[in-house]
Amino acid sequence: MATMAKRDYYEVLSIKREASEKEIATAYRKLALKYHPDTNPGDPDSMEKFKEAAEAYEVLADAEKRARYDRFGHAGGDQFGSQFQDADDIMDAFGSIFGDLFGGSGGGRRSRRARAGANLRADVKLTLEEAARGVSKTVDFARSKVCETCKGGGSKPGSSKTMCRYCAGHGQVVQSAGFVRVQTTCPQCRGAGSVITEPCTDCRGNGYVQERTKLDVAIPAGIDDGMRVRIPGQGEPSPEGGPPGDLFCFISVKKHKLFEREGVHLILRMPITFSQSALGATIEVPTLDGPHDLKIPAGTEAGEVFRVRGKGLADPRGGSGKGDLHVQTYIEVPKKLTARQRELLQELAELEHANVTPHRKTFFETIKEYFSPPTAPSKKTEE
Ligand SMILES: [Zn+2]
Ligand SMILES: [Zn+2]
Repeated sequence: MATMAKRDYYEVLSIKREASEKEIATAYRKLALKYHPDTNPGDPDSMEKFKEAAEAYEVLADAEKRARYDRFGHAGGDQFGSQFQDADDIMDAFGSIFGDLFGGSGGGRRSRRARAGANLRADVKLTLEEAARGVSKTVDFARSKVCETCKGGGSKPGSSKTMCRYCAGHGQVVQSAGFVRVQTTCPQCRGAGSVITEPCTDCRGNGYVQERTKLDVAIPAGIDDGMRVRIPGQGEPSPEGGPPGDLFCFISVKKHKLFEREGVHLILRMPITFSQSALGATIEVPTLDGPHDLKIPAGTEAGEVFRVRGKGLADPRGGSGKGDLHVQTYIEVPKKLTARQRELLQELAELEHANVTPHRKTFFETIKEYFSPPTAPSKKTEE
């Protein structure tokens, strides 16, 4: 394949063609420091420059490759293509020239940062009351622990490991493509340098067994359905000696018979009678803390919402104050009437017929206008 606008290696390192080995190393070290992903986290541009510099250094630091490059340039062969996958590959290959700049000593950063253990999940079901007040819950989940039989080694007691033949016990293998040599973790022993000959029967050679674990977890007040509570350090142990993972408690909140939730607010649909809506009343509404007296003014319409301050939920992320309870009224129309009720309502209906309320009056006027437009627009007569 043709090279696509590949920059000249000397240009990449900003050095003269006759630069000495030392100058090449100095130039590369400067660039590598500038563009190292640890210095520029999450910047793809820097990563590209970091790789480009490593590739240039890979070629120019090697007298043979440099001579070939000087004669043929990039056309000298596909051999000059970068094989580096990530910064760790590059550090593994050239770490020694950085000395202890990146935390290594002499050999550079040979050992990669030990990965943390895997995160675990536990499901926690709460009632709305529990979610509102906060609660301590015992969660029960499976977690790996070091196998007692083999003490984590994975070998049957009495047997021992043998050296990995694939990497001759180094744990690392060098793969070469053309002139480029890349050191990677041995795929056979995954870097351990040794392999298990007789696996432990209790853990099948894993070194870990699953254990049911019980843990008391404090769920903060105001937690909502779909949120997660992170318990640091309670996940899986790290097989590489790094920190353990975290436990994530996935929260689900059961539907409540009365209240609906909207963030920190609660919504309650409250039935009132026609007479309460017309005359006004003090009604007893439920809240999570018990009954509360709510005054409804005369002339309350169906769907009107009244706010009871502070009877909602707390914000689980902190923050002062609580949400409100929104009471939405609806008028309950009786399905069955007693004789007395019927009598009173009929009386009321007769009264209503005699006195049309102002609101109804304007409403009927609007309807009338709607059906008979005032005057049709005059037609232009033809000449
Ligand atoms: Zn075992
Ligand atoms: Zn190996």
